[in-house]
Amino acid sequence: MRTRFAPSPTGPLHLGHAYSALLASDMARKAGGTFLLRIEDIDRSRARPEWEAQIFDDLHWLGLDWPEPVLRQSDRLPAYRAALETLWARGLLYPCTCRRRDILEAASAPQEGTEPPVGPDGIVYPGSCRGKARPTAMPDEPLRLDMHKALRETDVVSFREDGAGPDGETGLQVIHRDQMIDGIGDIVLVRRDMGTSYHLAVVLDDAAQDITHVIRGQDLFEATAIHVLLQMLLGLPTPRYHHHRLIRDEAGKRLAKRDDARAISKYRAEGDTPADIRARVGLN
Ligand code: GLU
Repeated sequence: MRTRFAPSPTGPLHLGHAYSALLASDMARKAGGTFLLRIEDIDRSRARPEWEAQIFDDLHWLGLDWPEPVLRQSDRLPAYRAALETLWARGLLYPCTCRRRDILEAASAPQEGTEPPVGPDGIVYPGSCRGKARPTAMPDEPLRLDMHKALRETDVVSFREDGAGPDGETGLQVIHRDQMIDGIGDIVLVRRDMGTSYHLAVVLDDAAQDITHVIRGQDLFEATAIHVLLQMLLGLPTPRYHHHRLIRDEAGKRLAKRDDARAISKYRAEGDTPADIRARVGLN
């Protein structure tokens, strides 16, 4: 068993991160497997070395260990590029210059008064740029996956859920063609100024690190169908997934990076031990 914790160094780790990292590490240890760390720093405008240093420090303090060197997404741009080139050559990607506002307008227009469908990445893209002429060489622009074409190349999308989705989904998950097209649509695989996207990077990195069990928060359950589709398109193995409950504050709101009040470093400064943190997130 190989598990991983994949934080973005864009703020302090909070109790939700502690839960995710401890769970992934505990599961690997119990199975005699390996727990890996990956730094998801593709968003260069928000990633900071100080946050990365704090991540290492907090995780070591919690008692976690992982093989070095740690995989950093910022070192992986050539691998992302190579995968994109193969998808481009198969005609599965197209450039999209739409801004958020354009998408909202185009998506709202046909059904005045009704809410446009929302998928894992927000409003399902109405396809405005899909029919435009594609250059032969892959352009240095935001790129979307053509979901109709992608589904011509694969069978049904399915994965094994060992934990549970937000509505208690567990066991074999089968996502049908219509759900992929209507509920997810043409997702962005290359973001502006990033050269990649979370979805593409996470899929390639989980494969490069031979991750067998992806353990992460329920907020990413819906995105898993995208990840499995990309694995199929790129000929990569599909790991097992274990989505876990989210740690919430007293008001029931899930913790965010800006919740400094729940930062691990704050509890440390106030005298918590690693065992106290485990107790706070319901692990022993
Ligand atoms: N980097 C993501 C985050 O900070 C986690 C990605 C994943 O576990 O797939 O939420």
